[in-house]
Amino acid sequence: MKIIKLASEANRYVADIKSSGREIGFVPTLGGLHKGHQLLMQRACEENDVTVISTFLNPMQFRKKQFIEYPKDFEEDKLAAEEADVAMMFHPSIEEMFRTVQKTDCLFDFQNDNFPNRCNDRFVIETKDKNGIDNLVRVPSNLLYRLDGILHPWFFDGSATIVYRLFNILRPTRTYFGEKDIQQVAIISKLIDACFPDIQMASVPTLREADGLAFSSRNVLLSKEQRCSALSVYLALKHGENLIMEGESDREAILTKIKAIIATESAIIIDYLDIVDRRSLEPAERIHGDAILYAAFFLDTIRLTDTVIVTPSNRT
Ligand code: AMP
Repeated sequence: MKIIKLASEANRYVADIKSSGREIGFVPTLGGLHKGHQLLMQRACEENDVTVISTFLNPMQFRKKQFIEYPKDFEEDKLAAEEADVAMMFHPSIEEMFRTVQKTDCLFDFQNDNFPNRCNDRFVIETKDKNGIDNLVRVPSNLLYRLDGILHPWFFDGSATIVYRLFNILRPTRTYFGEKDIQQVAIISKLIDACFPDIQMASVPTLREADGLAFSSRNVLLSKEQRCSALSVYLALKHGENLIMEGESDREAILTKIKAIIATESAIIIDYLDIVDRRSLEPAERIHGDAILYAAFFLDTIRLTDTVIVTPSNRT
């Protein structure tokens, strides 16, 4: 497997592959590779001639403390990618990805700005913001201020900005994202429609451990007890799913039952919990069509998320 750290070299690498008529599958990650990532890589390998991944821990998506604490192990990532038959791993430095930024610490400051230049229904690409970040992608409000974006709108500007850069460098045929991060799927799919019509996007269902806990890079930070507590959130969401499948449509009533299950685990602090319509990502008093049950929660300082997609339309 080839490891490339420079954008220009990565760009040449994919250009060579494409000039020989081969198709490229691309899986963007923050590193800390686990089996969930491997599922995406496996899909990419099955559907493309060549699979490339990126392992770039994007500072724009974190507060500084969380960034420092995020699990990073380059050697482990290398092994996991090799095992998954990845042809090239793009692993740029922060300086390489943000060449116009003088002091990379300011990438954490960008979270404190007041989001000027945002449109309700289209992406805005800012040429250069006050911190010197060039091509900063502003996600449309009608996608951003939903679910987790209500609490952390900057996270999705950060993620869209880096994916925009990665797509420009790697120009893949297809790209793969996990439904575990369902809002990211919605945003990147619209970004592709707007700016990269040649790229096809696939969303991949969440891979879980045998007991149901979603694989996540942060799971390695959990103690045994915290891991047990984390599982109760998934079980609570699944209970919500069952209620919907049985015909319950009152969002408040379902949320109350989900919260009651989670409340039995005192170690869990819910950061965000809601049921939203799958298409609009907005909560509705009554659940009629396909819906998303989404939870973001803390165990001490470790923040995890989980998503369950409910499709009553498939009810038999
Ligand atoms: P991350 O490194 O956390 O940004 O994740 C990179 C990609 O892997 C994203 O598209 C995630 O949605 C996806 N992903 C993370 N965890 C899982 C999982 N348990 N199952 C499937 N995909 C996942």
